[in-house]
Amino acid sequence: MRVIRCFAVILLISFCTLLRAGSFLDHDEIIYIKNEHLLLGFNSKDGALHRFDDITEHVPLLAETNTKNSLWQIHLQTPSGIIPLDIFSASLFRVEKANTGYLKMIWSGFREMDNPDFEVVVSVWLDKNEPVSEWKIYLKGIRERHIEKVIFPKISGLKDMETEHLAVADWMGSLLEEPRAYMQKNSRNYFGWAYPGHLSMQLLALYNPNKTGLYLSCNDSLAYRKNFGIGLDSQGYLSYQIDNFPEYDISLDTYSPNYEAIIGVFKGDWLTAAAYYREWAVQQKWTRESRLKNGLVPSWVEETALWVWNRGNVQGVLPPAEALKKRLNLPVNVLWHWWHGCPYDEGFPEYFPPRDGETLFKDQIAKAEKQGVRTLIYMNQIQWGNTTESWEKENAFQHTVKGIDGKTITHVYNIFSGKALTTMCVGTPFWRDKYASLAEKAINDYHVGGIYMDQACLGYLCYDPSHSHPLGGGNYWVEGSGELTRKIRSSSRSADKIALSGEGVSECWLPYLDLFLTLQVSKERYAGVEGWQTIPLFQAVYHPYAVSYGSYSSLLSPPYDDLWPTEFAPADTLRLLSVDFNQQFLMEQARSFVWGIQPMIANYRDFLATDREKEINYLMKLARVRSQGLKYLLYGEFARAPEIKSPERELKISRLSIYAGREAERVTELQGKFPTVYAAAWKSDDRMLGIAIASILDHTFPVKLRFNTETYGLQPAGEIFLINENGKKRSGNTARERLM
Ligand SMILES: [Zn+2]
Repeated sequence: MRVIRCFAVILLISFCTLLRAGSFLDHDEIIYIKNEHLLLGFNSKDGALHRFDDITEHVPLLAETNTKNSLWQIHLQTPSGIIPLDIFSASLFRVEKANTGYLKMIWSGFREMDNPDFEVVVSVWLDKNEPVSEWKIYLKGIRERHIEKVIFPKISGLKDMETEHLAVADWMGSLLEEPRAYMQKNSRNYFGWAYPGHLSMQLLALYNPNKTGLYLSCNDSLAYRKNFGIGLDSQGYLSYQIDNFPEYDISLDTYSPNYEAIIGVFKGDWLTAAAYYREWAVQQKWTRESRLKNGLVPSWVEETALWVWNRGNVQGVLPPAEALKKRLNLPVNVLWHWWHGCPYDEGFPEYFPPRDGETLFKDQIAKAEKQGVRTLIYMNQIQWGNTTESWEKENAFQHTVKGIDGKTITHVYNIFSGKALTTMCVGTPFWRDKYASLAEKAINDYHVGGIYMDQACLGYLCYDPSHSHPLGGGNYWVEGSGELTRKIRSSSRSADKIALSGEGVSECWLPYLDLFLTLQVSKERYAGVEGWQTIPLFQAVYHPYAVSYGSYSSLLSPPYDDLWPTEFAPADTLRLLSVDFNQQFLMEQARSFVWGIQPMIANYRDFLATDREKEINYLMKLARVRSQGLKYLLYGEFARAPEIKSPERELKISRLSIYAGREAERVTELQGKFPTVYAAAWKSDDRMLGIAIASILDHTFPVKLRFNTETYGLQPAGEIFLINENGKKRSGNTARERLM
């Protein structure tokens, strides 16, 4: 008996081995498609995804489980709630395999749908040469039904690749090590990102850098609203999905997204995935129409050597920037919050008159401009305060974003007054006209250099039938936002070009915005040291097409808006932070410098030049070096930096609210390990390579650079120059490999 049992075990194992190593012939149960990189196997009875293998690396990416997972899910909206349909709701299924790399699956016979013509068709095909698959879904017979969303594709049962990394184009880019463990520890079973919105590019990558990786993308060039998500199931398997949103219109009988989902495999890291995405990205309309690439960005924005981000009355904003400009002797410009007459985060859009009064505001802007200091003023692009007089008077409610349930998106940002803001719909001419008229006033009456359009790189679905855009799904948000920027620019009477800035970054807004505020470079200041880490993923794809700028980096405690209730005003606003956090400031500035972001100091005051002399000098040194290397650090293409071995150091990190918070939200001290030397490489248009290096050590540190010139498309031999704050000088020649 024992012998027989052993024999059976051996037989099973050898059978499995044969199947794994076999030629993946279709059989009763599984239908395969395959190219030289990828193998996909689908269950022939119901279409469930059974195999997803990286053939090159011999790695199966799906776990062998008994769990039945559906490739798609349709959320039918009914008066009694959502009815989900999936592959198991169909009573009929057939699969048509056109060739070794293309198949079509058709599900029909759904008892939840009274229309017998209702069908779900999925096509999957493999690229002839590339390690990618393309996925498309098509629904027919949906007339008279409301569909809230179509989840497709949904790839479930992703097995642990070990040493996993999850890179997400979450604005600048975020990287999470060991995502499964992190999600379990934090009781998060799902992460979702809206695109266009917090997802700046259609790119996620889940990988083990030494083994294989999943490249998760889409080829939508028209900015249709969708969500990307990563989930964790109870067995510890990850899943990936895209939520697609059909137009919410019962007269339509068919739906298919205007794009394909792209799922591929790669070996490398987030930079490898970014380089692959870039090949597609640079061919898109938004890249061809990029304002930076087409010389449409105001020259003063491109020339900015340093930004000062101050808040409040003129005196606390413009004179410190003017003084800093004199010291630096390079262009310093201002991002200006709290210039407006209304309290921050509750009185929008009642910005006028400015809190300093019309005359002083206007005169001081003119005076600053004479000294070469330009102003970019804050005006939220989508919010209206519910308690403002204009909210009622102008019937703002009618033009707000509505959910399927007709509800608005209303949020209390201001913790002191408790007064709420509601999100306005950029798809309505009313709101575009309203915002454009405010921007026009700031530009034509006060001669500001430009508008920082807070929350501009976000996108919403709106279901208000009285608005003039398609209901629900669509690409009207980016179109509306683009229309708004055209309106503002065309109404400008300024002799100079007007700068329009977004919050965050996004590929969809490259033709519309001149610059993009990327505060994630100082992420620890508002989100701590654990979990997601910032990576320059967007810069790695789009740096030559978008000016990114900004940081929360500050040496002072946060300010408090004078127009907020006085009883909550802390006594210690704009005081020096502990010297313990000075290194954090240096680290943020070093990152900004090497990542090709225009540097910024938040809450700058004159006394910092003496009280934090070393830190301010470091900032000015970086700005001076950067200003001599703009063909790399402003216009260059991101490249992988040669490895530099440097010690890591425990840094004290201040986590604090950006402006003064309640008692419990005051400065929190954290600690984290950070590199002491930062580096990134940049290729210029004239085929040169610039390697930006910044150290935050207080002693000399010898840097050894060893790299193969061929990797960067350089000739085997050539000259090396070194730029420091004193200028550029020749440093030697390269051999094929050279130590510097
Ligand atoms: Zn709307």
